[in-house]
Amino acid sequence: MDDPATTATADRIIAVPQDRPVWTAVRRGVLRRCPHCGEGRLFDGYLKVADCCASCGEVLRHHRADDGPAYLTILVVGHLIAFLMHFVWVTFRPEPLVFATILTVFAVGLSLWLLPRFKGAIVGYQWAHRMHGFDDGR
Ligand SMILES: [Zn+2]
Repeated sequence: MDDPATTATADRIIAVPQDRPVWTAVRRGVLRRCPHCGEGRLFDGYLKVADCCASCGEVLRHHRADDGPAYLTILVVGHLIAFLMHFVWVTFRPEPLVFATILTVFAVGLSLWLLPRFKGAIVGYQWAHRMHGFDDGR
């Protein structure tokens, strides 16, 4: 955990939290690692965020990713599928049922791969910005 630096003023000492590097935390989240140390596992299962890091003890239960990872996944997969659908149909004219089956398998597989990575990125972003209780280390 970060030890807050202290700043002396004329009559009192104020605790100033240290900066947390945003992109480092987001990258560690994408890799499904603890945003603080980068060593411990972020998830305790497929999408359940661990209560705390097994490596450094950072409390991770303060995240509130909510529907954000699903929105980002739909945004990316939907745009990619729309482009692929248009490109492949115009270029190759595949059999419709085969084409729909291949696109469905691709879309589901890519969504399942992206979802925990986007969730990790959002948790890392929230941790770096000290959102939703990540600021006090409780
Ligand atoms: Zn950690």
